[in-house]
Amino acid sequence: MTGWPHGARAACAFTFDLDAETLWMARGVNEPVTLSQGTFGVVEALPRILDLLRQAEIPASFFVPAWVAEHHPDAVKSIVAGGHEVGCHGDVHEKVSDLDAAQEEKILLRSLETLTRQAGRRPIGYRAPAWQLSPRTLALLARHGFEYSSNMMDRLRPYLHPASEGRRLVEIPVSWVLDDAPFFMFTGQRAMQPPGPVLQGWLTEFEGITEMHGVTNFTFHPQIIGRPSRLACLRELIDHVRHTPRVWIASLAEISAHYRATAAAG
Ligand SMILES: [Zn+2]
Repeated sequence: MTGWPHGARAACAFTFDLDAETLWMARGVNEPVTLSQGTFGVVEALPRILDLLRQAEIPASFFVPAWVAEHHPDAVKSIVAGGHEVGCHGDVHEKVSDLDAAQEEKILLRSLETLTRQAGRRPIGYRAPAWQLSPRTLALLARHGFEYSSNMMDRLRPYLHPASEGRRLVEIPVSWVLDDAPFFMFTGQRAMQPPGPVLQGWLTEFEGITEMHGVTNFTFHPQIIGRPSRLACLRELIDHVRHTPRVWIASLAEISAHYRATAAAG
């Protein structure tokens, strides 16, 4: 089994999808109050999350739709200034599986161009809006020089995809269990969960994945996790992970680089 660096028995990543207004725009919403929930993610939540990460001295990965980067350029700057990774996450949070081949490639290139310009560095990671891929997505990522995908739900540890266009992407798997949206996102259709029991569930999942030497890949949305009651839960979660022995807290870019190097070494 491929090991983790510094004698760690497992890895943990804190990732944030900064969907802002596009989370709602992608659902056909243009009503101002609903959209303003997305704005909250950028103007209120993001600075507090960056503070929390700075105090904890941990790196994170932020996936930003191109539309959000264009409309909130200071957000991308503040993420980069905090030393965090920026990855691609579509343009207006469109469903990749609904796009034709030409549209999909065009959006991917626009997103690469926008984030490279704003972040001052070319993104190497891709997370699809709502974790939905088309049958072409992985080959497109390989063609355009991405290092990793963080979309699949089949494993607890990273792995290499089969070669495409002469390149093997690293996959860093995710799960709805480790996502804040299923528990806290309010669409008017079901009740939100109280933070305490959700935190307990995340801690138990983290302990289990750690025992299995995997990577706990948390996926949060600033507009959802950034409410004060849930920020308290995030702080407790980060504290718990930091104080768990032999767990490597890293960005997905670092995890991908480490996995590729050790996989190559056999
Ligand atoms: Zn998203």
